[in-house]
Amino acid sequence: MSIKDNLLRLHRELPPEVKLIAVSKTKPVEAIEEAYAAGQKVFGENKAQEMALKYEQLPTDIEWHFIGHMQTNKVKYIAPFVSLIHSVDSLKVLKEINKQAVKNDRIISCLLQFHIAEEATKFGLNLEEAEALVKAKAAYKNVRITGVMGMATFTDDKAQVRREFKQLHGYFEFLKNKYFTKDTSFKELSMGMSGDYPVAVEEGSTMVRIGTLIFGKRDYTK
Ligand SMILES: *Cc1c(COP(=O)(O)O)cnc(C)c1O
Repeated sequence: MSIKDNLLRLHRELPPEVKLIAVSKTKPVEAIEEAYAAGQKVFGENKAQEMALKYEQLPTDIEWHFIGHMQTNKVKYIAPFVSLIHSVDSLKVLKEINKQAVKNDRIISCLLQFHIAEEATKFGLNLEEAEALVKAKAAYKNVRITGVMGMATFTDDKAQVRREFKQLHGYFEFLKNKYFTKDTSFKELSMGMSGDYPVAVEEGSTMVRIGTLIFGKRDYTK
């Protein structure tokens, strides 16, 4: 199956209102060009410098989404062009995104990343920490919080994955009703990857982040 076939198959399957983010991390620009030629305009990367390098080499109408752990000292590489940062998990990083957004005279959209998985290694906020960030947001006028993101446990147990996505959806609704009732831009629920996106879509995802099913397995040994 070609990248184009993979994209066509996913688009046939996904509801039209769910945005497909093609996760191109570790993949060469040629692979992104192939997806772009097939009509894909939204790509996700998890390393700031890698994303900046690809941005420079590729068409300017691509929407770049940052999905990796955001380190404060790396925000500057992507602030001039990033469309959405999915992974805000501290006030420190929110502050830095705001600072770089001001420098670039932009408003940068961000999602709050929640910790919903069982694994201790995955980054993310709990509800209390997320509320603290939301309460502080008025001071950071160049950041716009447009929703939440989370990664489910890597498991074949679909019931568990579903519980975790339901929990994330619950956090989204809670924040929406408490802090964003008049803010229509708070609307994104970024959940679902190659292994679990059908469940995520059933649980209300508005954005799926899919790499392997589009570009094939990643080789981390190179
Ligand atoms: C790599 C990655 C994905 C895509 O994973 P696949 O299993 O290849 O679809 C999605 N989200 C995040 C945060 C990732 O790091």
